[in-house]
Amino acid sequence: MMKTIIEPFRIKSVEPIRMTTRAEREALIRKANFNTFTLDADDVLIDLLTDSGTGAMSAAQWSAVMRGDESYAGSPSYYRFRDAVQNLMPFKHIIPTHQGRAAEAILFSIFGGVGKKIPNNTHFDTTRGNIEASGAEGHDLVIGEGTDPASLHPFKGNMDLPRLARFLEEHGDAVPCVMMTITNNAGGGQPVALENIRAVAELARAFGKPFIIDGCRFAENAWFIKQREPGQQDRSIPDIVRDCFAVADGMTMSAKKDAFGNIGGWLALNDDDLAEVARTHLIRTEGFPTYGGLAGRDMEALAQGLTEIVDEDYLRYRIRTNEYIVERLDALGVPVVKPAGGHAVFIDARSWLDHIPPLEYPGQALAVALYEIAGIRTAEIGTVMFGRQPDGSEKPAAMDLVRLAMPRRTYTQSHADYILEAFEELAEIRRSLKGLRITHEPKLMRHFTCRYEQL
Ligand SMILES: *Cc1c(COP(=O)(O)O)cnc(C)c1O
Repeated sequence: MMKTIIEPFRIKSVEPIRMTTRAEREALIRKANFNTFTLDADDVLIDLLTDSGTGAMSAAQWSAVMRGDESYAGSPSYYRFRDAVQNLMPFKHIIPTHQGRAAEAILFSIFGGVGKKIPNNTHFDTTRGNIEASGAEGHDLVIGEGTDPASLHPFKGNMDLPRLARFLEEHGDAVPCVMMTITNNAGGGQPVALENIRAVAELARAFGKPFIIDGCRFAENAWFIKQREPGQQDRSIPDIVRDCFAVADGMTMSAKKDAFGNIGGWLALNDDDLAEVARTHLIRTEGFPTYGGLAGRDMEALAQGLTEIVDEDYLRYRIRTNEYIVERLDALGVPVVKPAGGHAVFIDARSWLDHIPPLEYPGQALAVALYEIAGIRTAEIGTVMFGRQPDGSEKPAAMDLVRLAMPRRTYTQSHADYILEAFEELAEIRRSLKGLRITHEPKLMRHFTCRYEQL
């Protein structure tokens, strides 16, 4: 057996990277008010801002695009898309949306509202944004290990079951549904065990609450279950995926993640009445129920992508890429979230840059430095993203992480080695990095557009 795990594909079509100098990048990040989201993509060498919609589609997906049927109603592309989803996620109603947050907006138009409290292992930022915009509150009940970057727990995305039980007892009617995010993106791309998914489903059922899975990275989560959960080793990835969703009442999905799409999403529900309310909302905000916010060609690409994402050779290479980077960063003494997450590598900026206090955003300081030194674009997942409280005050988030999100099938091992070299250089100068101050921010989801000044 060969030890080197190669990219399980050849490259047929390429996009050039525009090279820049360090001096250029120092000027560009200032012009962008030190916000990596404000940079032009042409000014980035390796773009690890997100794995969302940034992956490479396969030749088979591009062929499927040509088959797209753009009929307004009843397009065969919708039925191929619906069947591909139901093959893995056996829900009754599959409602296409233009991306995940549109599915969330529809879901919380049903379940949200003032006074409502919605538990999850960890709400992702758009999920929290949609919940709060409805007047409801999002609550994160991940296990303690999930917020300890050094813990080697195999399923750090698991829900804390006793806390969830207490939460349901305490808040009763204020809880409209129970959610679970697989993998736990905001918590470091950490997986949730099948056993934990089933236990959460049982608790939700016992309290009469619908159980909704945010399934964005379902295939990566299933790969971790196969590797780490006792009794799952000999099972196929599609079978594990089906088991995860069989116990849920619905799901939200960003098809820009584990469906190999550049755009797309869906809301799935079993309940006929809820589905009717959701479809009525869909028609008002996204489109007719057989296309939602998508073109027929998008739905074709997703239908094909869903057959490719559960391929074990792909998943092995996908997860190994992150492990490779984590092992080498660890050897360099860079504090990283361990074990490696599914879609990203997370740096513990709070502990690496412990001369910068959380309210001066050590994660953002690191993201700025990575861009200046090497043209690598990353995102802060910490106090900027989660620190602003509903009452307007600000407090440190549970962790200050920097996320190196890996686009699917896009970068190669030499890109990984280049990233590691940037960290080697950073290790020398990290004590000279400075914190930041926010000079302008919107009311919700400030990290996307806020402006900073260096302290
Ligand atoms: C990306 C993501 C979303 C939102 O999906 P979009 O397609 O970006 O709107 C929701 N939840 C999780 C866990 C995500 O990763």
